[in-house]
Amino acid sequence: WWSGEEHKVILVGLDNAGKTTILYHYLTGDVVDTKPTIGSNVEEITFRNLKFVMWDIGGQESLRQSWSSYYNHTHCVIIVIDSADIVRLAVIKSQLYTMLEHEDLSKASLLVLANKQDLEGALTAPEISNQLGLINIKNRKWQIQSCSALKGEGLNEALEWIANNI
Ligand code: GDP
Repeated sequence: WWSGEEHKVILVGLDNAGKTTILYHYLTGDVVDTKPTIGSNVEEITFRNLKFVMWDIGGQESLRQSWSSYYNHTHCVIIVIDSADIVRLAVIKSQLYTMLEHEDLSKASLLVLANKQDLEGALTAPEISNQLGLINIKNRKWQIQSCSALKGEGLNEALEWIANNI
């Protein structure tokens, strides 16, 4: 049974963050082999009577300018972070705030996924939250969730939050 409404969710983040792994985990409940995303992948995911149309948008540098062409009618932005890629946190921070200024995303809720928690040296969700300055985001619903797409941990909690906050 389905309530008839579709919710658009976009997965963004730098290349190698785990976006495609997360998308296909939601789709198949399993870890599948991924290739770098050129352009985008899109899949329909049903969760608690809600239908999510989930877009995985390529994160390589050359593709980042085109992110905004996917923003229209987005209900939720998931930004996926490789929590062990500390060097590039500043890059994703600037991408995040540029993105949030876009008028097509003014009503979208934001879920930050602190992925790859299984890796040694991974920053915790509170540490990443601090680095990204999430506490300063006041004009939308946001949440940070730690996860490991490899182990399938934290991903259900993420969908649960989205279902309750779109
Ligand atoms: P994308 O470029 O953001 O779509 O990233 P991918 O989903 O293609 O993943 C990039 C690499 O990171 C792949 O080798 C994945 O297997 C790996 N990966 C994804 N999630 C995790 C995780 O939670 N832990 C670890 N250790 N590796 C992960």
